[in-house]
Amino acid sequence: MTKLTITDHSRIFANYTYVYPVVSRRSQGISLGINLNINNACNWRCIYCQVEDLVRGKPTDIDLIKVEAELDSMLNSIINGDFVQKFAPKNLQRFNDICLSGNGEPTLSPHFSSVVDIIARLRLKYNLTDQVKTILISNGSEIDKPHIIEGIKLLAKNNGEIWFKVDSATEAGMTATNQVHLSVESVKNRLKLASSLCKTYIQTCMFKLQDKNPSEHEIEQYINFVVSVKSYVAGVLLYSTARNPALPEGSDISSVSEDFLAGIAKQLEKHQIVVKYYV
Ligand code: SF4
Repeated sequence: MTKLTITDHSRIFANYTYVYPVVSRRSQGISLGINLNINNACNWRCIYCQVEDLVRGKPTDIDLIKVEAELDSMLNSIINGDFVQKFAPKNLQRFNDICLSGNGEPTLSPHFSSVVDIIARLRLKYNLTDQVKTILISNGSEIDKPHIIEGIKLLAKNNGEIWFKVDSATEAGMTATNQVHLSVESVKNRLKLASSLCKTYIQTCMFKLQDKNPSEHEIEQYINFVVSVKSYVAGVLLYSTARNPALPEGSDISSVSEDFLAGIAKQLEKHQIVVKYYV
């Protein structure tokens, strides 16, 4: 097995089905992903999505016993074995997080809360400290469902963070980027709810479409949106597309520059908003 790299975010590791380790720029170390959408199904269709063979729909049933066995075995290798030294590049040899993120929206799975429960039990078993986060990367669409609220409450007790996707703060922008029809108000309400349950960051992907940066109008609306929610979110994570988008529309997409992200960060920081960005 070769070392993990920041450009390889394969969901397949050894003979595991659900659990996959990656090293990433954003985590500056190893992140242990759990993929609940092994059928590549999501309710959104973001044009920059990197999931191969993405389909619209819901995840199929998952084998919770296998999820627990895989996570247990991987944590054992990381905590008690030499996994980190063996597979992570020298400058990224640290264990950052367990992350619910996969080939589709994780909260679409009816087993979401049970998986958070498994994570909570294994965090205890391996005595994971607050150095290791439990992250949910979500488009936020299911966050107001009662069974998801229960899972998120448990996530919060396990050093949890939600990274809530907001790529645009206009209805036209969301339709174009995420291929869903949502009102800005409904996104704001779900973001507010998420933040009341667990530490929540806004996560935003900025990209060039046909070599053009997002329009000034889009950026202005985005900044206004973030400023309007700044009292309840923990901050903003800005990034651009690092790997090749998998959808046909993706061929028109390329990364914005680091300076472009820095410019947006600067505008937000004027409002005392914490921003991290990475291309
Ligand atoms: S929400 Fe995530 S998995 Fe779903 S289409 Fe968008 S980027 Fe892909």
